[in-house]
Amino acid sequence: MVKNRTVDYLNCHPFLTHFINNGYDISDEEKKEWEVHIKRIVYRIKKKFEFKYQAEKICHTLSDVSKMPFKSYNIPASKCNVGNQMKKIGKEKSLLPACVECYADGRNNYAYPSVIEATEKRFKSLKDKDWIPAMVKLIDHNVNVHSMTHFRWHDVGDIQGVWHLRNIIAVCVCTPNVQHWLPTLETQVLKDYLVYMKTLLKEETDCNNIDIDNIKFDSIDNLNIRISTPIINAYPLTKIANDLGCTSSLVESSDRILAKNMEEFMENSICTSSLTENECADCRKCWDKKVPLVRYPFKKNGKMNGKIEPFDLYGGKEN
Ligand code: SF4
Repeated sequence: MVKNRTVDYLNCHPFLTHFINNGYDISDEEKKEWEVHIKRIVYRIKKKFEFKYQAEKICHTLSDVSKMPFKSYNIPASKCNVGNQMKKIGKEKSLLPACVECYADGRNNYAYPSVIEATEKRFKSLKDKDWIPAMVKLIDHNVNVHSMTHFRWHDVGDIQGVWHLRNIIAVCVCTPNVQHWLPTLETQVLKDYLVYMKTLLKEETDCNNIDIDNIKFDSIDNLNIRISTPIINAYPLTKIANDLGCTSSLVESSDRILAKNMEEFMENSICTSSLTENECADCRKCWDKKVPLVRYPFKKNGKMNGKIEPFDLYGGKEN
């Protein structure tokens, strides 16, 4: 991986802070030096763009999803690597991958030319050298002007590789007052990221008394990575999620959920947006690391009661 020290240091920061809070023995002087170093980097990033329109020239706008309480971010559904593979596997094995019924794949508002163009522009900008400061500017703008407290990554699309996840985490570190939620199917990218991070931390620290080999994503306080189950009605990927310090989610057929009584429907793990006019309203479960699993009722063409053919795939093994 090509070294970009600014991005590397920002990515190290939450993990080093976790170690420092959990017994990593460094002197007060070293700790202060590190904190000043990070503050300088964040300051430089935040100073890069004075105005929102300058940032939008780099990374385009943030996305608006009617369900979400605040702004989100998306790229084209066609750029989902695991999602596209799952669609093919589903055809071969008669499984129903959630991505086959993706609400964004040329459906609903995502079929409008202006929306398609916006997702393409965001995708093309991902490797721009100023993508991180531009995204930080847009998030800060929404914090300052619209009191944004929560941000959703990828209401459509997914992480493209370790380089992309590093950039997202750098943005999270620069916006500590915002809770970030990143849903993903890209478990291999998550694993590869932790390998990169272990190597980096070993280079940057005297690691004798810290357990670098067991680092997990839950060290990043303001980011919840929720690993989605790719097949409708299959078991959630709870073990992988736990091992990586993430949470998980699944899509469950709505007739299965509607058969349950309302009390159970309101159970903490189920998305209740259909009770609140398809909006999150006051719910923030998806961002909450203390909610290990969120279950989304399956909707066909945006409607509950979507029939699934074939379905009832609970025969899968919990992984
Ligand atoms: S679980 Fe809550 S936060 Fe998540 S999508 Fe549903 S309503 Fe929104």
